Amino acid sequence: MRQLLESCADGLRRGYWAQVNDRRTDINIRKGKVTGLIGCVVRMEIKDITGKDFERADKTVGLLPVGSIERHGNHLPLGTDGELPSFIAKEAGRRLGCIVLPTVWYGSCNAMRPFPGTFDVDQDALCRYVTAIIAEAERNGIKLLVILNGHGGNAAPIQMAARAATHRDGAGIAVVAIDWWRELGASKMALFKAPGHAGEDETSAMLAVAGEMVKMDDAMSCDAEYPRLRVYSKAMDRRIYAKALTGDATTANADSGRKLIEAAVDDLVALVKDALKALGSSTERRLEGSQI
Ligand SMILES: [Zn+2]
Repeated sequence: MRQLLESCADGLRRGYWAQVNDRRTDINIRKGKVTGLIGCVVRMEIKDITGKDFERADKTVGLLPVGSIERHGNHLPLGTDGELPSFIAKEAGRRLGCIVLPTVWYGSCNAMRPFPGTFDVDQDALCRYVTAIIAEAERNGIKLLVILNGHGGNAAPIQMAARAATHRDGAGIAVVAIDWWRELGASKMALFKAPGHAGEDETSAMLAVAGEMVKMDDAMSCDAEYPRLRVYSKAMDRRIYAKALTGDATTANADSGRKLIEAAVDDLVALVKDALKALGSSTERRLEGSQI
């Protein structure tokens, strides 16, 4: 409770918005006494706030989760690759005091096309869409956009978008592109003996953040041998993803998932701080003024 109150008060001090729940009703407040709260959530997602609140918010850093609608075995929701980075971004956004942009839910999913439930968006379309979001983030005053990707097929289009948006003449925004499962929480990956697509690690993470969506009765395992080199081959995709799952989902558990997600949030917070320092003068004032 103390932590919640401090988080709420801190959000208000920074000019953010807060939502106070007293179990019967939600009261949105900007200033005033923070007493007698049952729960308090600092709202950082721009889809939840008014234009006036956005005008007042610190826009130095924005976090943009990108996911996919893709088959994940038979036990995980199709939106798994968006759920996980969205959760990590919201947690990191709350700790950093930065805004969180709405998640891009569709991604580029070649390998999982044969499985019902996969919506494979053309990679060029995804690249152009993310490029446009970066440009609009810049036009709205964001100095550093951190793209938190949750799906392998999105990595190349996102990198292309970041290059296109930041290399054009007059561009002032900086972009950091992160594949969260590769670059965050690495210290906890030893917890998982059989990680993979919808495997032990991803299933554990989903049990931790959205357990009600996971159908463990349908969890499976699948031994898949990944090639040592990056091979682009439809036939190999079919062989590796025969069950739309790799690794072993049956051994997943929420406790390991929670440790992975907590480490991922810690790493993201540290990474943003490092990026702000590395970028120097344009963002320095924000760094000095914040508690991060
Ligand atoms: Zn996934």
